[in-house]
Amino acid sequence: ETSTGGLPGDARIDALLAAAHERYRDHDEGVVADYIPILSTANPAWFGLSLTELNGSMHSLGDSEIEFSIQSISKAFVFALACDARGHRDVHDRIGVNNTGLPFNSVVAIELNDGSPMNPMVNAGAIATTALLPGETAAEIWESVLTGLSRFAGRQLDVDEEVYRSESATNQRNRAIARLLESYDRLEGDPLEIVDVYTRQCAVSVTASDLAVMGATLASGGVNPVTGLRVVSAEAARDTLTVLASCGMYERSGEWLFEIGLPAKSGVSGGIVAIVPGKGALGAFSPPLDTAGTSIRGQRSCAYLSRALGLNLFASA
Ligand code: GLN
Repeated sequence: ETSTGGLPGDARIDALLAAAHERYRDHDEGVVADYIPILSTANPAWFGLSLTELNGSMHSLGDSEIEFSIQSISKAFVFALACDARGHRDVHDRIGVNNTGLPFNSVVAIELNDGSPMNPMVNAGAIATTALLPGETAAEIWESVLTGLSRFAGRQLDVDEEVYRSESATNQRNRAIARLLESYDRLEGDPLEIVDVYTRQCAVSVTASDLAVMGATLASGGVNPVTGLRVVSAEAARDTLTVLASCGMYERSGEWLFEIGLPAKSGVSGGIVAIVPGKGALGAFSPPLDTAGTSIRGQRSCAYLSRALGLNLFASA
């Protein structure tokens, strides 16, 4: 039983999602993020899995409808919007596409690379990427971000104001990163206003099933498989997936690709989106993180499902 998208049939997908949930729900490794104070209130037991196919059919399990702040996963979709607005060459030249080999909030990476924001999946590159979205003012850029993220999800998304306030009060490091980029003339617009838009973008509430739909939009060349609407160009979707493969899981991107073989992005609230080009996407949510800031149950589940569903892009059989 194989569906047209090249994934196994519905019954098999449901059985394997259930098997992944069963296998990992009692794992108790990892630590819930607390450098953004409000995130420490998350329940470490939360665990949701979701898969969206390119025909729009959705499979969800566990806590897949619990809302959490999207955090760094927003970087992937905002980069896709920037690629769509500015094009391949411009994002390459302004942001960069190489892994830093360093944590996502590294200042050293900027200093070691002549002020380059390096890539759109670390904070420096993500802040510089947000500044590339359409809009004359910060308010207009924010409008572009929220409208764009909502189109990826196929529903109107909103900011969790409590998360926004908590991170705004504690984001001195991101403000420093923006000022540093400004000093190298590598950031468009007012640095603190752009950091504020970036902080709001990280506080947008999503569920694991939203992440699966958002990822499936990248898997289908930029068309949301549930709404049928084009969100970004096929080139923008392709360029985003390539950067996710090299940089989406921060300094562990090589290990992730070696074990799982899919472009993916994680965030410190415990979400992961993993994309299977031409087939669909997985969304996972569970708050306990490894030391790089990626959900442990999420990554275990993606590894299991990649093997069981035959998703590794580099496997010829
Ligand atoms: N908003 C968070 C930050 O800027 C996002 C980090 C993450 O999810 N890795 O620190």
